[in-house]
Amino acid sequence: MRKTKIICTIGPVSSSYEALEQLARAGMNVVRLNMSHGEHEACAKVIKAVRTLNRKLHHPIAVLIDTQGPEIRTGDLSNELDLKTGDVISVVARGVEDVEASSIQINYEDLIHDVSVGDKITVDNGLINLEVLSKEERVMQCRVVDGGVLKSKRHVNLPGIRVNLPAITEKDRRDIAFAVEQEVDFIALSFVRSADDIAELKQLLGSKADKIKIIAKIEDQEGVNNLDAIVTASDGVMVARGDLGVEINFELLPQVQRQIVAACAVQGKRVIVATHMLESMISSPMPTRAEVTDVANAVYEEVDAIMLSGETTIGKYPFKCVEVLDRIARTIEPSPGLAFTDKLQLGNNKQEIALAAVKLAESIHAAAIVVPTRRGLMANLVANCHPRKPIICAFTNDSRTRRHLVLTRNVLSYRINFSSDPEKTLANAARIMLSRQEFSLDDKVVVISDALSGAGIEAIQIRTLRDWDPAKVESDSQQ
Ligand code: PEP
Repeated sequence: MRKTKIICTIGPVSSSYEALEQLARAGMNVVRLNMSHGEHEACAKVIKAVRTLNRKLHHPIAVLIDTQGPEIRTGDLSNELDLKTGDVISVVARGVEDVEASSIQINYEDLIHDVSVGDKITVDNGLINLEVLSKEERVMQCRVVDGGVLKSKRHVNLPGIRVNLPAITEKDRRDIAFAVEQEVDFIALSFVRSADDIAELKQLLGSKADKIKIIAKIEDQEGVNNLDAIVTASDGVMVARGDLGVEINFELLPQVQRQIVAACAVQGKRVIVATHMLESMISSPMPTRAEVTDVANAVYEEVDAIMLSGETTIGKYPFKCVEVLDRIARTIEPSPGLAFTDKLQLGNNKQEIALAAVKLAESIHAAAIVVPTRRGLMANLVANCHPRKPIICAFTNDSRTRRHLVLTRNVLSYRINFSSDPEKTLANAARIMLSRQEFSLDDKVVVISDALSGAGIEAIQIRTLRDWDPAKVESDSQQ
């Protein structure tokens, strides 16, 4: 079993049922729909295909919707602009009329007000860089620091500048309503700058707030500054290295990635490392050595999931990319990682009990920690302790919980019916485990649950899979 989960962004090369199935068979765990590009109709088709696929597969694929957020872009150009390093060009904000053909328009009305002389404007994810030389009321002059060919609607970053745009735009609101209607499993909120942004999303979700898990995307310095409060407010965090890598100095990125991973480990929250994991494989069948090492680094950091973007939306080798992540993760996972487990914030009784179960499982060399769980809480608490060897097998009676657990590192999740007799529930669980190659009758397991007794009382037991009489297995359970 691979512990690290794989998220694939879906796009033109991967949106058919056949492609989704091939990605799933290669090891994809979560489908990401990026609302910067996807139309609702096309996304709904992918979600429908995933649901059909889930009826066929033993392990479900979860669905994550990623909002566009307050994105800044250049305007439409009738002809591409060839910007030469050293050129001085005019830059205007949206709303300015009679723009010269050689000027760059940017769709952010407060642009000229917010930037100062000497500030950097980064276009197309850092490929083109400008420096502000002078400002007038409606136009500013910028020097091209790094030239390139500018096309229409390119991504713009204003590193270090507090952009005066709402955290959740009108488009995001429509996309969030779509996510609720489609009953997706996760919403990743772009450009989260403070915990208030998460509170606003929760308010929008209303009664659905506990049905959809919230992933905060950290994409700029302000998000990093408010990291701990954002981690507290969210279910998980994405290290969104595409934007983050241009919003902060790139040499700081590895350190900030580790800071975010550690902050999530301390608070027991999920963490995803995203973007440029296998960028060269958009056009090449082999990863670069640096990419292999970067993916391995995230696996050593024991993150919950690693994510593909362009590699699986427009790339030539989408399935191979998933196989590459799978191979690297399986190879690196047996080595001791960084885990930051010793930093896990304790003091919460349930978390302490989960840690006791993990220590017990490690000391008796248990093959698995079995966690019957209704809402997934106990399974996540066990996962927060990063057990070295044992696999966490979570059994839930709720399909949504099962899909939420798909993102959690080292958790295999199953849906079963809970019986009023805990032994019958465990017998069901044992039958499913024994159908997997990893487990045999003599395997010792540690069972931890507050869901079995029905009274919310936590209990830890040491058992062997042989303990359960197959005659007790309910015929209506499902994997
Ligand atoms: C990123 O910036 O790394 C990211 C995941 O966000 P997006 O792909 O929406 O730019």
